[in-house]
Amino acid sequence: MGIPLGQAARIGAYLVRQKLSGRKRFPLVLMLEPLFRCNLACAGCGKIDYPNEILNQRLSFDECMAAIDECGAPVVSIAGGEPLLHKEMPEIVQGYLQRKKFVILCTNALLLTKKIDDYKPSPAFTWSIHLDGNQAMHDKSVCQTGVYDKAVEAIRLAKSKGFQVSINCTLFNDADPAQTAAFFDEMKTLGLDGITVSPGYAYERAPDQKHFLNRTKTKELFRGILARGRGGRDWPFTQSRMFLNFLAGNESYHCTPWGNPTRTVFGWQKPCYLLGEGYAKTFDELMNDTEWDKYGVGNYEKCADCMVHSGFEASAVDDMMRHPLKALAITLKGVRTEGAMARDIPLDNQRPAEFVFSGHVEKKLGEIRAAKHPGSHKPRITRTGGSNGGGSKPGPEPVVAAE
Ligand code: SF4
Repeated sequence: MGIPLGQAARIGAYLVRQKLSGRKRFPLVLMLEPLFRCNLACAGCGKIDYPNEILNQRLSFDECMAAIDECGAPVVSIAGGEPLLHKEMPEIVQGYLQRKKFVILCTNALLLTKKIDDYKPSPAFTWSIHLDGNQAMHDKSVCQTGVYDKAVEAIRLAKSKGFQVSINCTLFNDADPAQTAAFFDEMKTLGLDGITVSPGYAYERAPDQKHFLNRTKTKELFRGILARGRGGRDWPFTQSRMFLNFLAGNESYHCTPWGNPTRTVFGWQKPCYLLGEGYAKTFDELMNDTEWDKYGVGNYEKCADCMVHSGFEASAVDDMMRHPLKALAITLKGVRTEGAMARDIPLDNQRPAEFVFSGHVEKKLGEIRAAKHPGSHKPRITRTGGSNGGGSKPGPEPVVAAE
């Protein structure tokens, strides 16, 4: 793994403790979304399609600390929205470091140069810069020119100040294996500490529905990329080799959504980082009341094409713990990029998608307005533009308008 040895050892010890205690489901990485507001509007993003009143919500410092205290995960990944828009972000990062957590702060880097001196380098703190490929790929992905250059400038600055820096790279169906491999080579020359890569999840509310990968295309793409880098050994991936092996179609895992529990301004998101099918008030309620068997590939239509790291990295880590020799062989030899793929989970019995977005938005708006003006507001329902794409998905759901 491309993560520091001390970090790997502490996370390993945590995993062993969970296993020895017989805990069936436990968290590995807290996914914190302390706000949805962003300073970009990427075509493949399904996270910022909210009325202003919700985009203006923030999780407070105390709520962020309560989230980690409740769940106890050893790692916290802070995303959004754009976390650097949150005024309390330096205190939140510091609060997690004081609790001996490993902190990954995900950012599009547009504000990094301005805000970097609010943070201090630490072996337990990593900037994770959003970069979806080379200049042409990334600027297209974020729908704005010049963002790639700013991100690379920010990486250089952060490295020069002694920070640990990784990139997070989401790939879509227009990614070219040779171009992506060349991009990873180029990133290595910047002295990056890690690369996190994942296929994009087909968010139902993303404006661009045409460029999400299906499972077969994902596996072919990753085989094409990894084959150009000695089965992945050429690049400092922060993910387990077992997860890369899964992306290359050599394993067929069920997801482990509780491994990356997600706390947003709505509450604890059910069932995972990618799907907001409901919200729990507490972490215990999330773990105990979520009907986990209703989700995952083969169980639910919205899960059919998912191979995202937040759902499957914990499955790969579990496999690694059960089969350490297999994991060692993949680490030494690299991921296999030829030959038969593992048989995938059949989709014949999956239940159809439910479209629940508007109900959650309406409920949240009601809470916000009740807190501001007790008894005075009723949410007004309207329709937004945009397309939800084809397949069996319906057109855009009504969205509750910000007043
Ligand atoms: S497959 Fe699992 S991780 Fe992916 S969207 Fe479904 S529940 Fe979430």
